[in-house]
Amino acid sequence: MELYELSIHEALAALDRKEISSLDLTEAYLTRIERIDPSVQAYLTVTADQARAAARQADLRRAEGHAQPLLGIPIALKDIFCTRGIETTCGSRILKGFIPPYDATVAERLSEAGAVLLGKTNMDEFAMGSSTENSAFMPTHNPWDLGRVPGGSSGGSAAAVSAGLAAASLGTDTGGSIRQPASLCGVVGIKPTYGRVSRYGVIAFASSLDQVGPFARTVPDCALMLRVIAGHDPRDATSLPDPVPDYSSLPPGSLRGIRVGVPDEYFVSGMEPGVENGVRRAIDTLIELGAQVDTVSLPHTQYALAAYYLIAPAEASANLARYDSVKYGYRAPNPTSVLDSYQRTRGEGFGPEVKRRIMLGTYALSAGYYDAYYLKAQKVRTLIKADFDQAFARFDVLVAPTSPTVAFPLGSKTQDPLSMYLSDVCTLPVNLAGLPGMSIPCGLSDGLPVGLQLIGPPLGEEMLFRVARAYEATGQWTPTIPPLP
Ligand code: GLN
Repeated sequence: MELYELSIHEALAALDRKEISSLDLTEAYLTRIERIDPSVQAYLTVTADQARAAARQADLRRAEGHAQPLLGIPIALKDIFCTRGIETTCGSRILKGFIPPYDATVAERLSEAGAVLLGKTNMDEFAMGSSTENSAFMPTHNPWDLGRVPGGSSGGSAAAVSAGLAAASLGTDTGGSIRQPASLCGVVGIKPTYGRVSRYGVIAFASSLDQVGPFARTVPDCALMLRVIAGHDPRDATSLPDPVPDYSSLPPGSLRGIRVGVPDEYFVSGMEPGVENGVRRAIDTLIELGAQVDTVSLPHTQYALAAYYLIAPAEASANLARYDSVKYGYRAPNPTSVLDSYQRTRGEGFGPEVKRRIMLGTYALSAGYYDAYYLKAQKVRTLIKADFDQAFARFDVLVAPTSPTVAFPLGSKTQDPLSMYLSDVCTLPVNLAGLPGMSIPCGLSDGLPVGLQLIGPPLGEEMLFRVARAYEATGQWTPTIPPLP
């Protein structure tokens, strides 16, 4: 077994037994990145020297007897997280060259936990997209088939973990950007309850929907990552004060008595048969584990996509107003006036999808249209939340597909924004309702990973990990790094 194949828990055990050092582990990942990343293109920035220094530091601390939950574990961060002294572009030309003067809370918590940062991963510009092809810099390739997308917008983070280019990583999920790429890359990813993880220092897309979460190859690794980053942060006013359970110490067990709902509306038309089969097989496994499974209806699901594509762009149009050529990153050369500087900087700095969202959002918020679009979408959002509230009166957890399709070929949806938007039809409602959602691999369809989505009530992360661990322990899916040339 190669060092980059170890799970976090296996690596921590090997470090404790002094069989390996964090520097060995870090070098293994850096070598792998050098060899493999030219074809996967998961990383925008590799911080090799800083990683080596952090690994040496971790080895010293371990030798001195310090116990930290991720001491010496190499991880990656989506380029949406501010990292002090390290370029942070959010996948956009407009932030090219932006070096934040501070760390996002999650970056700080990972480093306090002893993690070693390998670098910053590629993403759709400002997290708008489902394929990572909206990155201003390059597309990322799916490690399972280099001709296909890794999903998005956190495609670089998902692909890095999938290809053994990091032990774990962080992404953000506004409408599916952790769960959908986790599904397409065959890794575990969780979008926690809105407010569970601090958004301080996370570049904002749609502030009422954005949430941070981890990717890992195993359920316990994902749980450990979440435990480290979750919890109250006085610097984020939406951060929840509730204590953080020790998700990663849950032993795999039976699911006897657990009530599992299967929402009819998530088996949408256009879903690939291989995806539906994989998900149905996984549901059968949950029954074998003792779960009581029944169907449930979430009748307003069909309006979620429309509501999301008003609310998210509306919030984005407000959030992205700050890129005005004055304070951050790119500025168009030789402006003739302030207005000229704004116009050319934004015109040259933003890509087409970001411009589309700013225009949609500005329109939806403008006088005369606000009530018809934005306000109406907010009312629909309330109905979607009420559907879930009713379902969770009867069920402990809901299970559904994560994405209606497996990874699609690069370029196949870039000319058709609506078909790209449909990639998140099963994940968006969860963000609108602020709930925790997780994707775990549940098999392959024609050699490509299929994801099973688990949805919980507010702060129901523990239940998601419990079901996910029980499923993972059946061995129906073995965490696998796909063979790469
Ligand atoms: N694909 C969705 C969008 O483009 C969701 C993105 C996300 O979750 N950041 O908005």
